[in-house]
Amino acid sequence: MEIWELGAKNIREQVLRKEISAQEVLDSFLARTAEVEPKIHAYIELIEPQARLDAARVDALIMRGEDPGPLAGLPVALKDNLNLKGVQCTCASRILEGYISPYDATAVKKLRKAGAVFTGKTNCDEFAMGSSTENSAFGVTRNPWDLQRVPGGSSGGSAAAVAAGMAPLSLGSDTGGSIRQPASFTGVCGLKPTYGRVSRYGLVAFGSSLDQIGPFGNSVWDCALALEAIAGEDPRDGTTSKRPVPRYTEGLKRPVKGLVAGVPREMMELVTDPGVRREFERALKIISDLGVTVVETSLPTTEYCLDVYYIIAPSEASSNLARFDGVRYGRRAKARDLDEMYYETRGQGFGIEVQRRIMLGTFALSAGYYDAYYLRAARIRTLVRRDFDKAFAAHDVLLSPTAPMVAFKIGERVDDPLAMYAADVLTVPVNLAGIPALSVPCGFSRPDESGPELPCGLQIMGKPYDEETVLALGYAFEEACSDWFVPKTAAMRKSLSSQEECEVVVRDTI
Ligand code: GLN
Repeated sequence: MEIWELGAKNIREQVLRKEISAQEVLDSFLARTAEVEPKIHAYIELIEPQARLDAARVDALIMRGEDPGPLAGLPVALKDNLNLKGVQCTCASRILEGYISPYDATAVKKLRKAGAVFTGKTNCDEFAMGSSTENSAFGVTRNPWDLQRVPGGSSGGSAAAVAAGMAPLSLGSDTGGSIRQPASFTGVCGLKPTYGRVSRYGLVAFGSSLDQIGPFGNSVWDCALALEAIAGEDPRDGTTSKRPVPRYTEGLKRPVKGLVAGVPREMMELVTDPGVRREFERALKIISDLGVTVVETSLPTTEYCLDVYYIIAPSEASSNLARFDGVRYGRRAKARDLDEMYYETRGQGFGIEVQRRIMLGTFALSAGYYDAYYLRAARIRTLVRRDFDKAFAAHDVLLSPTAPMVAFKIGERVDDPLAMYAADVLTVPVNLAGIPALSVPCGFSRPDESGPELPCGLQIMGKPYDEETVLALGYAFEEACSDWFVPKTAAMRKSLSSQEECEVVVRDTI
């Protein structure tokens, strides 16, 4: 077995026992990346020289008998909307091309301190706006399970990097589902923490009341380890909580027997793929066999969530993206006067979806329409929160499929924004409510008779700051499924090696 196949837990233990060095770990992942990245295109930029320095630093600590930190040389890929000092941060946008981060995001800084080795910046939808990673100015990322399909989005590069074995861990950001939905599409675990659990400092803002940074991993344990490292109060982000950070990895084995899980019927009505429904129902059976009481419940405002999200998120985005004006960051268009400079910089720099969101948000916030759109959406958001509060008064967790469908084909939805937005219908309620949710692989569906099987995810939603219960149930579920899921992933990775390289498809996004 190659080092990259061992899994984060084993790798870290072997590094700590000095059986392998952090540099050997990195070499193995880089060799794997050289083999499969031309097929996947998960990265916008690989940063091998810096990664080598990071790994050498970890090895030096271990040699001196010092504690290298809980991640002990584990390679981590970062979504390209997270600032990593000295490295370009593009948000997959032309407008930020050439912008070099002058500082580390807090989550990045914490990972570095925990002994992580950063491999590079991963592809995503421009400014995290999208559900397929096709809205990138730097080309499309492919799904390792089927190279003709999208990896989901917006953190598709981070998800695909982990799924293909190029990194054991990665970070993404989740504003409306951008960690969980790509985790579901690529058959890995992805966690969106409670709003306020992880500092957003250094994450390029999209919808500030919705955004959270979270990890992707091959297992629930891996996600728990990463969350433990990145969570906690940060004086630089006033929305972070003072609550102490639990040892999430140690809480994984807590008993799940006796938990009560609710399945919101309104969410089930939105599932379009019969295979996704079938696998979810099978997952429910496994969960009740674990001693969890599974009951139907109701979240009546579910039907409004997508509409509310697509008013609130673009409104916040229109304000957040005002800073990209050609004066402060990245590219500046040549122009005769200031107005033309703004106009040309933003017109040339932002892709079509980002421009659409800015227009939608500016409209919803404009004096004449504020009450009819933004204010109304904000009010309904309160009702959504109340729905969740009510549901959590009677249930420990809520369960649904992560997405109503499996990964769709590249190009299939890209010209139909509403069809694209529909991929988030089961994930956006969680962001509106600010609660934590995990996507864990729960089965396979074959939408195309002749095509390969594609993974689908189970979404476990929890009470605010109760990541521990969410993770414990995810862990118990995963243990119950590992005998069939793990070999399928191994087979997919093996077959990936023999696939032909794919050209990088850059969509004309302007
Ligand atoms: N797909 C959603 C959107 O386009 C969610 C994005 C995200 O979570 N960053 O807004």
